[in-house]
Amino acid sequence: MQEPARIVVPPQSGRAIRVKRGDLIRVIDPRGQQVSDLWAFSTDGKLDWLSTSQTRDIVERLFPKSGEHFYSAAGKIMLTLVEDASPGPHDMLYPACDNALYERAGLPNHPNCRDNLMTALAGEGIELPFAPDPVDLFQNSLPQPDGTLVVEASINPPGGYVTLRAEQDLLLVVTACSVDHHPTNGDACTEIEVEISSAA
Ligand SMILES: [Zn+2]
Repeated sequence: MQEPARIVVPPQSGRAIRVKRGDLIRVIDPRGQQVSDLWAFSTDGKLDWLSTSQTRDIVERLFPKSGEHFYSAAGKIMLTLVEDASPGPHDMLYPACDNALYERAGLPNHPNCRDNLMTALAGEGIELPFAPDPVDLFQNSLPQPDGTLVVEASINPPGGYVTLRAEQDLLLVVTACSVDHHPTNGDACTEIEVEISSAA
């Protein structure tokens, strides 16, 4: 069997990755406690993208469980969560961290997942007027019983990962989240690794 292609997403950055239908995508947190934002786009024909709100509605959960799907804005199946080899939780309620978030924290010109998404897409010749909300892998921000939303330090151990299967040809963008003024990513922002096992 062919060795999987390995892409390293350095700390506080993002990478665009094209995958084919049937490919397996493993998103790995080598050092632990590192949130990884994931986006998926269908770029042949009409632009479509992974929609966290459609996914919540269709799977009737805050996050799919193994065997369930991530859906697009048009309600199409984009990805299947094949395996969750992390303790979770994962998040589908938050937007990407962006420049405004860091400015509110007194940190202007800080790296952020939104800019890293847009830069990765620009490298693929795609310009979007908005950023879809990402899937925040390994983000520990489950709603509290009283409805409060708090982002706590990720509990993902070193090597924790999820495996997804592409159900269409997709352009993925994966970031290693940039938050370093809050315990979201533990003590330090670290890299994310992505392994692609080709279906072919
Ligand atoms: Zn982020």
